[in-house]
Amino acid sequence: MEKLWASEALLPNGWARDVTVAVDAGRIAAVTANTPRSGADLGLLLPAPVNVHSHAFQRAMAGLTERRGPDPRDSFWTWRQLMFRFLDRLTPDDVQAITAFVQMEMLEAGYGASVEFHYLHHQPGGVPYDDLAEMSGRIVAAAEQSGAGLCLVPVHYQYGGCDMRDLGPGQVRFGNDAARFEQLHAAAGKALRALPADHMLGAAPHSLRAVRREDLGAFASRYPHGPLHMHLAEQSPEVDEVQASWGARPVDWALDHMGLDDRWCLIHCTQMTPNETQSLAATGAVAGLCPITESSLGDGIFDGVRWFDAGGAVAVGSDSNIRISLSEELRTLDYSQRLRDGTRAALATEQASTARRILDAVLAGGAQAAGRDSGAIAVGQWADLLALDSGSIHLEGRSGDQALDSWIFAGDDRLVRDVWSAGRHVVQNGAHIRREAIVAAYRKVIKSLGDAL
Ligand code: ZN
Repeated sequence: MEKLWASEALLPNGWARDVTVAVDAGRIAAVTANTPRSGADLGLLLPAPVNVHSHAFQRAMAGLTERRGPDPRDSFWTWRQLMFRFLDRLTPDDVQAITAFVQMEMLEAGYGASVEFHYLHHQPGGVPYDDLAEMSGRIVAAAEQSGAGLCLVPVHYQYGGCDMRDLGPGQVRFGNDAARFEQLHAAAGKALRALPADHMLGAAPHSLRAVRREDLGAFASRYPHGPLHMHLAEQSPEVDEVQASWGARPVDWALDHMGLDDRWCLIHCTQMTPNETQSLAATGAVAGLCPITESSLGDGIFDGVRWFDAGGAVAVGSDSNIRISLSEELRTLDYSQRLRDGTRAALATEQASTARRILDAVLAGGAQAAGRDSGAIAVGQWADLLALDSGSIHLEGRSGDQALDSWIFAGDDRLVRDVWSAGRHVVQNGAHIRREAIVAAYRKVIKSLGDAL
C-alpha cells in the first residue's frame, strides 16, 4: 500500500485540502481529506484523463506536412503524399519505438492512459505478417515500456470509399475483410494479456466510408464487449460522399442504422446540423474531439456549446499526434468556440469555470470511451493521477478552479510534475522515468526514416 499526500486535490464532490490517497495494486484504496502531512507535498492533485484517439505512427510525420501542394485548395495533398511514402517504410520495430515515444509524451502531458485506434496491420504491399497481430503486439510492447494504460482498438478497414472501391496503394496495409478482421481482433486481445490488469480491448469500424453497410449495422452485436470507436463526420467531402451514396448525412445515417449508445465513441463529429448535435448527444455516445489535429487539418469547429448544453459526453484525443499537449487540447476546444461565436469563456457555466467544466467532462467521457475505471479520485478507481507543480509561478496565489484555469489558459504542460497510470509512477519531476531510452530509440527511427523520405 502506497500513500500519497497533496495539499489540494479535486475529489468527486469538489476541492479538498490536505488529502491522503492510498493506492493498492494500482487502484485507489482510500481517500481522506484534512490529514496531517506525510511525505512530500505533491501539490495540486487531479485525476489524469484518458487520451481517447491516437494513430501513434503519425507522430513521426509531424512537422513534415506544412508545405503547399500544387493545388492550394487541396489541403490533404502534401500530407497524403508523405503518408504514402512513409507507409512503404515503417517496420514493426519502427512502430514500437514511435508508439513508446508517443505514450511517453502523453504521460508527460498529464494523460493517464491512451486509446490507440490501430489500423496499420500488415506488411508494405498489404500481405499480413506471419502473426496477424504483429503490429498490435508492438503497441502492447510499447505500453509495457512506457507504462501507459492502454485501450487497444483494432480497426476494421476494408474499402476506399462508400462505393466499395479497392483500397488505394497507401491503404493496403490497413485492409481486412470482416472474417480476417475478426481473427485479428481476437489475436490482438491475446497480445494484450502481456500487460497489467488495467488494459482494455475495444473495436472499431474505421469510418462509414471504409466498411460495408451491413457490417456497420452489425458491428456492435458482433463485438459485444469493450468500447466501440469510429471516425464520423470529420470533413465536408465525407458528408457529401455519404449523402450521395446512401441518401443521408453521416451522423443521421449512423443514428438510424448503428444502434449508437454509450459504448460508442465517435471521433470528430465536426460536421453536424443542430438537429444532429441534439440527437447524437442524446444517445449517450462520447464525442471524441481532437481540437489540435482538427485545427491542423482545417476540419472545422465542433458544435461544442450546443453539445455541452444538451448534456453530451465528450473526451479529447491527439489523433495525428502533430503535437501532444493536454493543456493545449483543452484550450483549443474553448478558443475555437470563442472564435466562431465572438464570445468569451464559451463552455463555462455559472457554477463551473471554463477549465473546470471541460476537465470534468473529459475525465468522465474519457473513462467511458476507454472502458476504464478512472476519471475520479475515488475508492475503487485505477490510480490515474496527475500532480501540478503548485510552486510554479503560474499557480502562485491560485487554488481550486482558478488554478485549473491558470494551468489551461496561462500555463502549459510544464506544470505537470508527476503522473501515475494505474498506480505506476511513470512521470517524476516532469520527466518520464524511461525518457532517455525511449528518446534514443525514437531518434534512431527518425534518422533512418528521414534518410528514406
Ligand atoms: Zn483519427
